[in-house]
Amino acid sequence: MKIFHICSECAPFAKAGGMADALLGLLRETKKLGHDVQLILPKYRFLKLDELRKLDTLNMRYDHKECVNQLWSASYEEIPLLLIEPKTSEAFFERDHIYGEPDDVERFSYFAKAAASYLERLSCSPDVIHLHDWHASLVPALYKKALSILTIHNLGYPGVISKESLEKLEIPDWEIFRCRDYYSLLQGGIISADQITTVSPAYSKEILQPESGGDFCHLLHHYQEKLVGILNGIDYTYWNPQSDPLIPYHYNSTQLEGKKETKKFLQKRLQLEEKECILVGAVTRLVEQKGPRLIKSAVEKTVEAGGQFLLLGSAQDSNIRALFSELQTTLAPSRSLHIELQYNEELAHHIFAASDLFIVPSIFEPCGLTQMIAMRYGTVPLVRATGGLGDTVFEEKNGFLFGPPEEAALHHALTRAFACWRNAPEKWDALKMNGMREDFSWREPARKYLALYDHKLYSRKK
Ligand code: ADP
Repeated sequence: MKIFHICSECAPFAKAGGMADALLGLLRETKKLGHDVQLILPKYRFLKLDELRKLDTLNMRYDHKECVNQLWSASYEEIPLLLIEPKTSEAFFERDHIYGEPDDVERFSYFAKAAASYLERLSCSPDVIHLHDWHASLVPALYKKALSILTIHNLGYPGVISKESLEKLEIPDWEIFRCRDYYSLLQGGIISADQITTVSPAYSKEILQPESGGDFCHLLHHYQEKLVGILNGIDYTYWNPQSDPLIPYHYNSTQLEGKKETKKFLQKRLQLEEKECILVGAVTRLVEQKGPRLIKSAVEKTVEAGGQFLLLGSAQDSNIRALFSELQTTLAPSRSLHIELQYNEELAHHIFAASDLFIVPSIFEPCGLTQMIAMRYGTVPLVRATGGLGDTVFEEKNGFLFGPPEEAALHHALTRAFACWRNAPEKWDALKMNGMREDFSWREPARKYLALYDHKLYSRKK
């Protein structure tokens, strides 16, 4: 099959979050299975790719004028990439970051239209176009020559666009983007794509309820027939405690000494008291979705119970930063916690490997990768039962769960986890082993996507 992905991110050269990892995992695995996969991406200024090759140009209508795009080709692990560089005065991708610009919606809607124009002029169309989140969800409204799959990685980002910006795109049917009193690019994608997927089965059901689905709940109900959830995988080569170059000691499910050594190494390095106690970790973006107040409460509860806590959280919001800086100051004398409010790849690996328990108390979580990474590193997850967290963590089997997003429920689960670690080491080991033996690689998810493409292509031909 010839499959084109259109996305704003791809690990490792254009990564902002979990979507970038998911895309690389899916590309790699489907390529390994013999399919012709390609990726269309904006040509960001900061891309570091070998052997960029200048191709021809692509003309397109935008904002009532003719615009020119320079096309480039490159490859990553032999996956062909087509990069689009708009030659417009807005310099849409000559920026330092993937997101966070005031004109993000114009940048990516422009990119999506350019991607559709590129596809349109191909002499041989792909079998499948696979679009990711709102950034690419304009494409199926414009390009109809291939089966279109739209994956919703996070419904919390609907790609709200003003009428003026939508008009700039000069598209025929923009009423499909109208959602209540605003316009959403994601909505147009939901309506026009042949198939919608979400990144876990539980999330595909949750978004049919008003609490999670919000303004899209009724629309998604209407299109329920074409909605399915496929759990993301994690990269088993990159996340591997047996060979991870970023951790000081290696280990596997039969040889766990290295995990103990990594815990001691980190206690020393981060100047925590070098004692035998439960070590709890969290690696996250500190945004409301991830339950920052619950994380803070878990830190306090852990220290109070005699444990230690390692928190690595990238935080932009000044209130959230203040919350954790204050906590660090208050609890510093205990030598029981280390808080780092930034993105740090190496420390993330250390925390996954050194911790005993890993917490993910998200308010909502479309899939979540960190609970799966933790299990791969023999670290028992404690999560809120929402979205992909509830699809991967099971009480009494591989971790601890709590329901309501409230401190009492979280504390109850922490108390169970602390008691199990202290009083039932055999049970703890069993949870750890079960997690390590799970297969969260891309093997299964990639096969599920391919089966879905096949099935939909077959139904289209009939
Ligand atoms: P999301 O995409 O919503 O941020 P996921 O759980 O799907 O959450 O993916 C998060 C990915 O980003 C994981 O690979 C995790 O290790 C990494 N990550 C998150 N925050 C940090 C951080 N502060 N430092 C290093 N890595 C981080």
